[in-house]
Amino acid sequence: DPTKHQDWEIAEDAEKTMKTIYEIGEQLGLTKDELLPHGHYIAKIDFRKVLERLKDKPNGKYIDVTAITPTPLGEGKSTSSMGLVQGLGKIGKKVCAAIRQPSGGPTMNIKGSAAGGGLAQCIPLTPFSLGFTGDINAIMNAHNLAMVALTSRLQHERNYNDEQLERLSGMKRLDIDPTNVEMGFIMDFCCQALRNIIIGIDGVNGKSDGFMMKSKFGIAVSSEVMAILSLATDLKDMRERMGKIVVAYSKTGKPVTTEDLGVAGAMTAWMVEALNPSLMQTLEGQPVIVHAGPFANIAIGQSSIIADRIGLKLADYHVTESGFGADIGFEKFWNLKCRYSGLKPDCAVVVATIRALKCHGGAPVPVPGKAMPVEYKEENVEWVAKGCANLLHHIRNVRKAGIAPVVCINAFYTDTDAEIAKVRELCEAEGARVALSRHWEKGGDGAIEFAKTVVEACEDKSDFKFLYDLDMPIKERIELIAKEVYGADGVDYSPAANKSIERLQADPELAKMGICMVKTHLSLSDNPSLKGVPQNWRLTIREVLTYGGAGFIVPVAGAISLMPGTSSNPAFKRVDVDVETGKVKGVF
Ligand code: ADP
Repeated sequence: DPTKHQDWEIAEDAEKTMKTIYEIGEQLGLTKDELLPHGHYIAKIDFRKVLERLKDKPNGKYIDVTAITPTPLGEGKSTSSMGLVQGLGKIGKKVCAAIRQPSGGPTMNIKGSAAGGGLAQCIPLTPFSLGFTGDINAIMNAHNLAMVALTSRLQHERNYNDEQLERLSGMKRLDIDPTNVEMGFIMDFCCQALRNIIIGIDGVNGKSDGFMMKSKFGIAVSSEVMAILSLATDLKDMRERMGKIVVAYSKTGKPVTTEDLGVAGAMTAWMVEALNPSLMQTLEGQPVIVHAGPFANIAIGQSSIIADRIGLKLADYHVTESGFGADIGFEKFWNLKCRYSGLKPDCAVVVATIRALKCHGGAPVPVPGKAMPVEYKEENVEWVAKGCANLLHHIRNVRKAGIAPVVCINAFYTDTDAEIAKVRELCEAEGARVALSRHWEKGGDGAIEFAKTVVEACEDKSDFKFLYDLDMPIKERIELIAKEVYGADGVDYSPAANKSIERLQADPELAKMGICMVKTHLSLSDNPSLKGVPQNWRLTIREVLTYGGAGFIVPVAGAISLMPGTSSNPAFKRVDVDVETGKVKGVF
């Protein structure tokens, strides 16, 4: 009973009777040699073999799950993705899902690992939350190896003359500008103290402790290597992308790449196993593929293209999830992931809760540690109706992509019939289908209306189209995203951002890369405190990064950081182990 037990207790109980990974593999239609077990309940999938064997099989229906703008009340997007999979399972559909691997940062900070909740979750929870099959470790090694290459090269270029440098390293001087380094180190925790650092402190003038310079750490899930894992279509593609990562610039402003540093091959070597997606199951025994884990506010926010390809070949309905609200997660699914994969979605689910809609409508924002404001406990159709503006904005974005929107009201016990009826009325007037779903409370049995509605929406004629063409000038594309998707009046650029855009626009190849925005997920605008649909505002672009390997131009809006901070009451305080059994407690 989810009203009496915590998510991890429900997971722990279900894990006692879960299917083995061999059963899940067989159910999904994988052959024995395509399944690479990691213990009894998790496996990697040999994607090359599957995609080769099924290359002529038509794809199943492709469903993206997205949401309204997140509020502190939670919308339950992962929970609803798992609920949909369980509901589709209940109505007899062959179903699969792809979700992202959780990052250690949020798992140990506030949010938890996002394996769903209540009776709609994926299991086994603890290994999923704590490192899983090692892909993020591989990413950290690959990424940090590039920084090893860069920092040692800076020392050697300082210590040796041209003749010595070429004789010793076999490489010509790259003449790297230490004040123009794009890349930093990564780790998979939220650690604000590592946002700005000085490295090589004793390495001044010929000493052997590196080259003293300013550097930084980002969270692993913001790494370009993570983006490459999401987007790579095979090992060859990954190897090519890995060599195009811009690490720094030379003193004459030329990009210095991982290939220039001679490290791209070794970086890819760390990633060979990580290219195989991992497999686990829902609480009700449907297959769930887990692969890659970039956040949507500071990265692309999607699980991998490879995972979706496999799911679409093996299942009739494949559910994939994009991070945060439809302004960022879905926008990147639409204009980046689908562009690079060539796959076309059949419908998109926008998840909302009545409580979160009230928050967007202007009800007081709940404060952690304080009592829940009364507005969320009592019926208030007016707040809900006002907050629907945010939901309708996201519905229109899905429509702009040319596919059918389905609103999932993720039911909560405080919702009233009148509040639900209001959401239905407003969304249906906008041309969206609406389903009320009780998967959190009842699992797949509670998600039958939801599943049937999605099946119906997948039959709509879709006319999937991108928001922009890649040959449109960079600024025009940023402005299109800002105005059409976020609802801004226009865009302002810092001098540094203008300079980067000019440089990118002048290079015909770089100018055609996709736009991967970095923006807060907490508002449609770049100001996290503005709920609903902010009016009369302009988007500010502070800097523009180049992700040459992923193929992204990355405009950074506002003051968002690629390294989140850990809060004053983090989740790690509640995690411990039973030393007799080795069982981990408190990870959620
Ligand atoms: P998101 O993916 O939107 O961040 P999650 O699916 O991870 O959200 O859910 C966040 C939390 O909210 C989880 O702890 C989950 O158990 C809880 N939750 C989700 N849906 C409901 C619901 N309908 N009723 C009560 N709690 C819910």
